[in-house]
Amino acid sequence: MSLTVPAFDLLPATELPITGTEDIFPVGRIFCVGRNYADHVVEMGGDPDREEPFFFTKPANALTQDDVVPYPSHTEDLHHEMELVVAIGPSVAQHGMNISVRDALSHVFGYAAGVDLTRRDLQAEAKKRGRPWDMAKGFDFSCPCSDLRLASDIGHPESGAVKLSVDGELKQDGDLAQQVWKVPEIVANLSTYVTLRPGDLIMTGTPAGVGPLLSGQRVEGEIEGIGQVAFTVAADR
Ligand code: MN
Repeated sequence: MSLTVPAFDLLPATELPITGTEDIFPVGRIFCVGRNYADHVVEMGGDPDREEPFFFTKPANALTQDDVVPYPSHTEDLHHEMELVVAIGPSVAQHGMNISVRDALSHVFGYAAGVDLTRRDLQAEAKKRGRPWDMAKGFDFSCPCSDLRLASDIGHPESGAVKLSVDGELKQDGDLAQQVWKVPEIVANLSTYVTLRPGDLIMTGTPAGVGPLLSGQRVEGEIEGIGQVAFTVAADR
């Protein structure tokens, strides 16, 4: 009988500060909803009828609060997508599977404002060839994110402006009320595919106005009542 010990330590886990507390939120997984605002579905060439939500993921360490985000390799078309981020709390530990719509919000610990950075050219190629989206969506620094606001402080917002500007020019100007699938429905639906765990984040889709980012540009995003996220795309590629 021998004890087993890790051959090496993992790098530190990703953490998100919680506004108004000394606590940090330890980030488990990052799930993302595709096409959840009708006007964005149309701009991406889709049918805005309410079809089942679909999900993709980013690794937890894609999350960043750095002021400078590198322009990623393998793309000439880096896009911004401003999104409400839902944080799943500890109460889900024994109840993470097949959550009902009615119970879903009781497992939402808080909210943040995040950007789903996307290699749009790689995503278009993946769609065309039936390949995975991972390298289009889950690259390093692909999830700039604000601090977390507790649901116990701000409640569960159903409306509020979702804005993103590039070099001071407003590019995205939507509202949470325009979401096709609401937060309780997203949590419930996702929990039929995976057992949700404390620390999971869910990016809930973006309104219209997505577009390219260039090296050196300043990005400022805000979700009304929840938070702000700002970063500069590194000048050197
Ligand atoms: Mn997105």
